[in-house]
Amino acid sequence: MGNSIPAEKKRGAIIFDRDGVLNVDVGYAYRPDQIIWIPGAMEAVRMVNEAGFYAFVATNQSGVARGYYTEDDVQKLHAWMNDQMDSQGAHIDAFEYSPYHPEGVVPGYARQSECRKPNPGMLNRLLSRPGVVREASFMIGDKTSDLEAAAAAGIDGVLFDGVDLVKTITTRIYQQLGTS
Ligand SMILES: [Mg+2]
Repeated sequence: MGNSIPAEKKRGAIIFDRDGVLNVDVGYAYRPDQIIWIPGAMEAVRMVNEAGFYAFVATNQSGVARGYYTEDDVQKLHAWMNDQMDSQGAHIDAFEYSPYHPEGVVPGYARQSECRKPNPGMLNRLLSRPGVVREASFMIGDKTSDLEAAAAAGIDGVLFDGVDLVKTITTRIYQQLGTS
């Protein structure tokens, strides 16, 4: 056997819903001044980073289809959110968003989409990234549609009750580590 280059360590992923989990769901937030962080959100992400999981975000952003803001706004907001996280020693490894909605008004976005939760498209894209172990991954969301998307992607879904995100995440992570 020759020398082999060690593959990057494969890791589970924790997929966060955004609005209602990381930031207060104020409805169609797209500017930094509309972001009110959920208490413990950055700490929870940092714990995910430090526990050796990927930290991903999958968020429905039908405000694009509805004409309230653009994809560029979404991307800029996510970059800003990651800058804020960085200042707390945390980071999101990748964001996915779905700009579609069947009742939208913006051409090209006013449609059904496999990537709008409860469909699993965004989750499947994240879970298909190199190095991600699907079986060691789960989603955390505040709505039934988050749990449905998780189930459709074949991963566990954890409902965040709005009380203690750090505790919710750490409890689930330790369960995960205990079973892997
Ligand atoms: Mg939500």
